[in-house]
Amino acid sequence: MKAAVCEAFGKPLVIKDVPEPSVGPDDVLIRMKGCGVCHSDLHLVDGDWADWGTPLPIIPGHEVTGVVEKAGDQVTGLKPGDPVGVPWMQYACGQCPACRAGAEMLCPAQKSTGVTVHGGYAERVKAPAAFTHRIPEGLDLVTAAPLLCAGITVYSPLRRAGNLAGKTVAVAGIGGLGHLGVRIAAAMGAHVVAIIRGEEKDALARELGAHEVIDSRKEKAGKQLARKGGADLILLTGISAKLFEECIPGLGPNGTLVVLAAIAEPAKVIPAALLTGQKRIAGSLIGTRDDMDAMLRFAADHGIAPIVERHPLGTVNDVLERMRQGKIRLRAVLTP
Ligand SMILES: [Zn+2]
Ligand SMILES: [Zn+2]
Repeated sequence: MKAAVCEAFGKPLVIKDVPEPSVGPDDVLIRMKGCGVCHSDLHLVDGDWADWGTPLPIIPGHEVTGVVEKAGDQVTGLKPGDPVGVPWMQYACGQCPACRAGAEMLCPAQKSTGVTVHGGYAERVKAPAAFTHRIPEGLDLVTAAPLLCAGITVYSPLRRAGNLAGKTVAVAGIGGLGHLGVRIAAAMGAHVVAIIRGEEKDALARELGAHEVIDSRKEKAGKQLARKGGADLILLTGISAKLFEECIPGLGPNGTLVVLAAIAEPAKVIPAALLTGQKRIAGSLIGTRDDMDAMLRFAADHGIAPIVERHPLGTVNDVLERMRQGKIRLRAVLTP
Protein backbone atom coordinates (compact mmCIF):
# COMPACT_ATOMS: atom_id res chain seq x y z
CA MET A 1 0.00 0.00 0.00
CA LYS A 2 1.03 3.60 -0.53
CA ALA A 3 2.03 5.61 2.54
CA ALA A 4 3.79 8.84 3.44
CA VAL A 5 6.52 7.86 5.87
CA CYS A 6 8.55 10.00 8.24
CA GLU A 7 12.00 8.36 8.07
CA ALA A 8 13.96 11.25 9.63
CA PHE A 9 12.81 14.37 11.49
CA GLY A 10 13.19 17.63 9.61
CA LYS A 11 13.15 15.88 6.20
CA PRO A 12 10.29 15.56 3.70
CA LEU A 13 8.06 12.53 4.12
CA VAL A 14 8.88 9.65 1.79
CA ILE A 15 6.01 8.46 -0.39
CA LYS A 16 6.53 4.74 -0.84
CA ASP A 17 5.04 1.29 -0.90
CA VAL A 18 4.92 -0.35 2.54
CA PRO A 19 3.45 -3.69 3.65
CA GLU A 20 -0.20 -3.62 4.70
CA PRO A 21 -0.59 -3.78 8.50
CA SER A 22 -1.47 -7.22 9.87
CA VAL A 23 -4.64 -7.34 11.91
CA GLY A 24 -4.74 -8.85 15.41
CA PRO A 25 -7.86 -10.44 16.92
CA ASP A 26 -9.03 -7.15 18.50
CA ASP A 27 -8.15 -4.88 15.58
CA VAL A 28 -9.83 -3.57 12.48
CA LEU A 29 -8.16 -2.82 9.15
CA ILE A 30 -9.52 0.38 7.64
CA ARG A 31 -9.40 1.59 4.03
CA MET A 32 -8.56 5.28 4.45
CA LYS A 33 -10.95 7.81 2.91
CA GLY A 34 -9.66 10.95 4.59
CA CYS A 35 -6.88 12.00 6.95
CA GLY A 36 -6.79 15.50 8.33
CA VAL A 37 -3.48 17.32 8.56
CA CYS A 38 -3.19 18.73 12.08
CA HIS A 39 -0.64 21.24 13.36
CA SER A 40 0.67 18.50 15.64
CA ASP A 41 1.75 16.57 12.52
CA LEU A 42 4.00 19.46 11.61
CA HIS A 43 5.57 19.45 15.10
CA LEU A 44 6.11 15.70 14.75
CA VAL A 45 7.75 15.70 11.30
CA ASP A 46 9.83 18.78 12.08
CA GLY A 47 11.26 16.98 15.11
CA ASP A 48 9.91 19.43 17.71
CA TRP A 49 8.67 16.44 19.70
CA ALA A 50 11.68 14.19 19.09
CA ASP A 51 12.03 13.41 22.81
CA TRP A 52 8.51 11.94 22.95
CA GLY A 53 10.04 8.68 21.79
CA THR A 54 8.40 8.46 18.37
CA PRO A 55 9.86 5.33 16.75
CA LEU A 56 11.16 5.98 13.24
CA PRO A 57 10.07 5.28 10.59
CA ILE A 58 6.50 6.36 11.43
CA ILE A 59 3.42 7.03 9.31
CA PRO A 60 1.86 10.25 10.74
CA GLY A 61 -1.82 11.23 10.80
CA HIS A 62 -4.37 11.08 13.62
CA GLU A 63 -7.59 12.38 12.03
CA VAL A 64 -8.42 9.27 10.06
CA THR A 65 -11.72 8.23 8.54
CA GLY A 66 -12.43 5.25 6.36
CA VAL A 67 -14.31 2.02 5.90
CA VAL A 68 -13.66 -1.21 7.79
CA GLU A 69 -12.15 -3.76 5.43
CA LYS A 70 -11.30 -6.55 7.87
CA ALA A 71 -12.25 -7.15 11.50
CA GLY A 72 -10.31 -9.45 13.87
CA ASP A 73 -11.96 -12.58 15.36
CA GLN A 74 -12.67 -10.92 18.70
CA VAL A 75 -14.23 -7.75 17.28
CA THR A 76 -17.96 -7.63 17.97
CA GLY A 77 -19.12 -4.07 17.33
CA LEU A 78 -17.72 -3.44 13.87
CA LYS A 79 -17.85 -5.30 10.56
CA PRO A 80 -16.51 -4.82 7.04
CA GLY A 81 -18.20 -1.88 5.31
CA ASP A 82 -18.78 0.18 8.47
CA PRO A 83 -17.74 3.85 8.26
CA VAL A 84 -15.30 4.62 11.09
CA GLY A 85 -12.79 7.07 12.42
CA VAL A 86 -9.48 6.64 14.25
CA PRO A 87 -8.40 9.48 16.52
CA TRP A 88 -5.21 10.40 18.39
CA MET A 89 -5.87 8.07 21.35
CA GLN A 90 -5.43 4.47 20.30
CA TYR A 91 -4.84 2.81 23.66
CA ALA A 92 -5.25 3.70 27.32
CA CYS A 93 -4.35 1.24 30.08
CA GLY A 94 -7.60 1.35 32.07
CA GLN A 95 -5.64 0.85 35.29
CA CYS A 96 -3.81 4.09 36.10
CA PRO A 97 -5.34 6.83 38.28
CA ALA A 98 -6.23 8.96 35.22
CA CYS A 99 -7.99 6.09 33.46
CA ARG A 100 -9.79 5.05 36.67
CA ALA A 101 -10.96 8.63 37.14
CA GLY A 102 -12.51 8.66 33.66
CA ALA A 103 -9.79 10.79 32.09
CA GLU A 104 -8.31 8.16 29.78
CA MET A 105 -6.91 10.83 27.45
CA LEU A 106 -4.41 11.64 30.23
CA CYS A 107 -3.19 8.03 30.52
CA PRO A 108 0.62 8.01 30.63
CA ALA A 109 0.69 4.65 28.84
CA GLN A 110 -1.39 5.99 25.97
CA LYS A 111 -0.56 4.98 22.40
CA SER A 112 -1.04 7.80 19.95
CA THR A 113 -2.01 7.31 16.32
CA GLY A 114 0.62 8.67 13.95
CA VAL A 115 2.92 9.52 16.85
CA THR A 116 3.81 6.28 18.61
CA VAL A 117 1.96 3.87 16.27
CA HIS A 118 1.38 4.20 12.51
CA GLY A 119 -1.33 6.64 11.49
CA GLY A 120 -3.47 7.62 8.56
CA TYR A 121 -1.13 9.06 5.93
CA ALA A 122 -1.58 5.71 4.18
CA GLU A 123 -4.09 3.80 2.09
CA ARG A 124 -4.81 1.49 5.01
CA VAL A 125 -4.57 1.84 8.76
CA LYS A 126 -4.94 -0.66 11.58
CA ALA A 127 -6.49 0.27 14.94
CA PRO A 128 -7.92 -1.53 17.98
CA ALA A 129 -11.70 -1.79 17.61
CA ALA A 130 -12.07 -0.49 21.19
CA PHE A 131 -10.57 2.86 20.12
CA THR A 132 -12.22 3.03 16.68
CA HIS A 133 -15.36 5.15 16.41
CA ARG A 134 -18.35 4.58 14.18
CA ILE A 135 -19.06 7.60 12.00
CA PRO A 136 -22.80 8.30 12.10
CA GLU A 137 -24.87 8.46 8.93
CA GLY A 138 -25.04 11.89 7.40
CA LEU A 139 -21.35 12.75 7.84
CA ASP A 140 -19.17 12.70 4.73
CA LEU A 141 -16.02 10.66 5.41
CA VAL A 142 -13.61 13.18 3.88
CA THR A 143 -14.93 16.32 5.52
CA ALA A 144 -15.56 14.51 8.83
CA ALA A 145 -11.88 13.59 9.28
CA PRO A 146 -10.89 16.74 11.24
CA LEU A 147 -13.68 16.06 13.74
CA LEU A 148 -11.48 13.25 15.09
CA CYS A 149 -8.99 15.76 16.54
CA ALA A 150 -10.01 19.38 15.94
CA GLY A 151 -13.69 18.57 16.60
CA ILE A 152 -13.18 16.65 19.82
CA THR A 153 -10.69 19.25 21.10
CA VAL A 154 -13.27 22.04 21.00
CA TYR A 155 -16.26 19.86 21.88
CA SER A 156 -14.92 18.42 25.17
CA PRO A 157 -14.54 21.73 27.07
CA LEU A 158 -17.93 22.90 25.78
CA ARG A 159 -19.56 19.67 26.95
CA ARG A 160 -17.79 19.88 30.31
CA ALA A 161 -19.04 23.46 30.79
CA GLY A 162 -22.61 22.16 31.02
CA ASN A 163 -25.65 24.01 29.76
CA LEU A 164 -24.36 26.85 27.61
CA ALA A 165 -27.71 28.08 26.32
CA GLY A 166 -27.63 31.87 26.55
CA LYS A 167 -24.11 31.89 28.00
CA THR A 168 -21.34 33.83 26.30
CA VAL A 169 -18.67 31.68 24.67
CA ALA A 170 -15.78 33.43 22.96
CA VAL A 171 -13.70 31.53 20.44
CA ALA A 172 -10.29 33.10 19.97
CA GLY A 173 -8.77 32.19 16.60
CA ILE A 174 -10.85 31.01 13.66
CA GLY A 175 -8.76 28.26 12.09
CA GLY A 176 -8.97 24.47 12.04
CA LEU A 177 -10.13 24.29 15.69
CA GLY A 178 -11.84 27.65 16.03
CA HIS A 179 -14.21 27.35 13.08
CA LEU A 180 -15.58 24.16 14.61
CA GLY A 181 -15.67 25.78 18.06
CA VAL A 182 -17.96 28.51 16.74
CA ARG A 183 -20.28 26.04 15.01
CA ILE A 184 -20.55 23.66 17.95
CA ALA A 185 -20.96 26.39 20.59
CA ALA A 186 -23.67 28.07 18.48
CA ALA A 187 -25.46 24.72 18.02
CA MET A 188 -25.38 24.27 21.81
CA GLY A 189 -27.28 27.53 22.12
CA ALA A 190 -24.46 29.73 23.37
CA HIS A 191 -24.09 33.39 22.51
CA VAL A 192 -20.91 33.13 20.45
CA VAL A 193 -18.29 35.83 20.08
CA ALA A 194 -15.58 35.11 17.51
CA ILE A 195 -12.20 36.75 18.06
CA ILE A 196 -10.41 37.25 14.77
CA ARG A 197 -7.28 39.07 13.70
CA GLY A 198 -7.97 41.27 10.68
CA GLU A 199 -11.27 41.62 8.86
CA GLU A 200 -10.82 38.74 6.38
CA LYS A 201 -12.57 36.18 8.57
CA ASP A 202 -15.45 38.42 9.74
CA ALA A 203 -17.99 37.14 7.20
CA LEU A 204 -16.87 33.52 7.69
CA ALA A 205 -17.23 33.77 11.49
CA ARG A 206 -20.77 35.11 11.16
CA GLU A 207 -21.65 32.46 8.59
CA LEU A 208 -20.44 29.78 11.03
CA GLY A 209 -22.85 31.12 13.63
CA ALA A 210 -20.97 33.79 15.58
CA HIS A 211 -23.39 36.38 16.97
CA GLU A 212 -20.66 38.97 17.40
CA VAL A 213 -17.17 39.36 16.04
CA ILE A 214 -14.20 41.06 17.68
CA ASP A 215 -11.19 42.13 15.63
CA SER A 216 -8.13 41.98 17.89
CA ARG A 217 -6.24 44.21 15.46
CA LYS A 218 -8.49 47.15 16.31
CA GLU A 219 -8.28 46.90 20.10
CA LYS A 220 -7.20 44.26 22.61
CA ALA A 221 -9.70 41.38 22.42
CA GLY A 222 -10.19 41.09 26.19
CA LYS A 223 -11.06 44.77 26.55
CA GLN A 224 -13.70 44.53 23.84
CA LEU A 225 -15.05 41.33 25.36
CA ALA A 226 -15.22 42.91 28.84
CA ARG A 227 -17.26 45.79 27.42
CA LYS A 228 -19.75 43.21 26.14
CA GLY A 229 -20.13 41.86 29.68
CA GLY A 230 -17.31 39.31 29.62
CA ALA A 231 -17.33 35.69 28.56
CA ASP A 232 -18.38 32.69 30.62
CA LEU A 233 -16.01 30.56 28.59
CA ILE A 234 -13.18 31.41 26.22
CA LEU A 235 -11.77 28.74 23.92
CA LEU A 236 -8.23 29.77 23.03
CA THR A 237 -7.39 28.09 19.72
CA GLY A 238 -4.86 30.56 18.31
CA ILE A 239 -1.19 29.68 18.85
CA SER A 240 -0.21 33.01 20.39
CA ALA A 241 1.00 33.90 23.87
CA LYS A 242 -0.06 37.48 23.17
CA LEU A 243 -3.62 36.42 22.41
CA PHE A 244 -3.64 34.39 25.64
CA GLU A 245 -2.59 37.46 27.64
CA GLU A 246 -5.11 39.65 25.84
CA CYS A 247 -8.03 37.29 26.46
CA ILE A 248 -7.79 37.11 30.27
CA PRO A 249 -9.42 40.52 30.95
CA GLY A 250 -12.32 39.34 28.74
CA LEU A 251 -13.42 36.72 31.27
CA GLY A 252 -16.65 37.49 33.09
CA PRO A 253 -17.35 36.52 36.73
CA ASN A 254 -16.50 32.84 37.28
CA GLY A 255 -15.35 32.69 33.69
CA THR A 256 -12.90 30.09 32.38
CA LEU A 257 -10.26 30.44 29.72
CA VAL A 258 -9.50 27.06 28.18
CA VAL A 259 -6.17 26.67 26.42
CA LEU A 260 -6.49 24.38 23.38
CA ALA A 261 -3.45 25.52 21.42
CA ALA A 262 0.09 24.29 22.07
CA ILE A 263 1.54 27.70 22.92
CA ALA A 264 5.14 26.96 23.86
CA GLU A 265 6.33 30.45 24.81
CA PRO A 266 5.93 32.14 28.20
CA ALA A 267 2.98 34.46 28.82
CA LYS A 268 2.29 37.00 31.52
CA VAL A 269 -0.60 36.55 33.95
CA ILE A 270 -1.30 38.83 36.89
CA PRO A 271 -2.64 36.43 39.54
CA ALA A 272 -4.77 39.13 41.20
CA ALA A 273 -6.66 39.48 37.93
CA LEU A 274 -7.90 35.92 38.47
CA LEU A 275 -8.72 36.45 42.15
CA THR A 276 -11.22 39.21 41.56
CA GLY A 277 -14.03 37.62 39.59
CA GLN A 278 -12.91 34.07 40.44
CA LYS A 279 -11.55 33.53 36.98
CA ARG A 280 -9.94 30.30 35.90
CA ILE A 281 -7.36 29.27 33.35
CA ALA A 282 -7.54 25.63 32.32
CA GLY A 283 -6.18 23.25 29.72
CA SER A 284 -8.12 20.64 27.81
CA LEU A 285 -6.68 17.73 25.88
CA ILE A 286 -8.78 15.95 23.20
CA GLY A 287 -11.46 13.99 25.11
CA THR A 288 -12.65 10.56 26.21
CA ARG A 289 -14.10 7.94 23.88
CA ASP A 290 -17.52 8.88 25.19
CA ASP A 291 -16.86 12.54 24.35
CA MET A 292 -15.88 11.42 20.84
CA ASP A 293 -19.01 9.37 20.24
CA ALA A 294 -21.20 12.18 21.60
CA MET A 295 -19.40 14.77 19.45
CA LEU A 296 -19.77 12.70 16.29
CA ARG A 297 -23.48 12.24 16.88
CA PHE A 298 -23.88 15.94 17.73
CA ALA A 299 -22.08 16.91 14.52
CA ALA A 300 -24.26 14.58 12.44
CA ASP A 301 -27.49 15.79 14.06
CA HIS A 302 -26.58 19.45 13.60
CA GLY A 303 -25.04 19.15 10.14
CA ILE A 304 -21.63 20.26 11.40
CA ALA A 305 -18.94 19.46 8.87
CA PRO A 306 -15.45 20.93 8.97
CA ILE A 307 -14.56 23.19 6.07
CA VAL A 308 -11.67 21.48 4.32
CA GLU A 309 -9.30 21.59 1.38
CA ARG A 310 -8.80 18.16 -0.22
CA HIS A 311 -5.36 17.05 -1.35
CA PRO A 312 -4.12 13.67 -2.63
CA LEU A 313 -1.89 11.74 -0.21
CA GLY A 314 1.05 12.02 -2.60
CA THR A 315 1.11 15.82 -2.23
CA VAL A 316 1.44 15.75 1.56
CA ASN A 317 4.84 17.48 1.60
CA ASP A 318 3.36 20.48 -0.24
CA VAL A 319 0.47 20.56 2.22
CA LEU A 320 2.86 20.53 5.19
CA GLU A 321 4.93 23.29 3.63
CA ARG A 322 1.83 25.44 3.07
CA MET A 323 0.89 24.82 6.70
CA ARG A 324 4.35 25.94 7.83
CA GLN A 325 3.74 29.17 5.94
CA GLY A 326 0.28 29.61 7.46
CA LYS A 327 -1.38 29.22 4.06
CA ILE A 328 -3.93 26.51 4.89
CA ARG A 329 -7.18 28.41 5.34
CA LEU A 330 -8.92 26.13 7.85
CA ARG A 331 -8.07 22.43 7.48
CA ALA A 332 -6.47 20.21 4.87
CA VAL A 333 -7.55 16.60 4.40
CA LEU A 334 -5.52 14.00 2.52
CA THR A 335 -7.39 11.56 0.29
CA PRO A 336 -6.00 8.24 -1.02
ZN1 LIG B 1 -4.41 16.94 16.10
ZN1 LIG C 1 -4.14 4.64 31.99
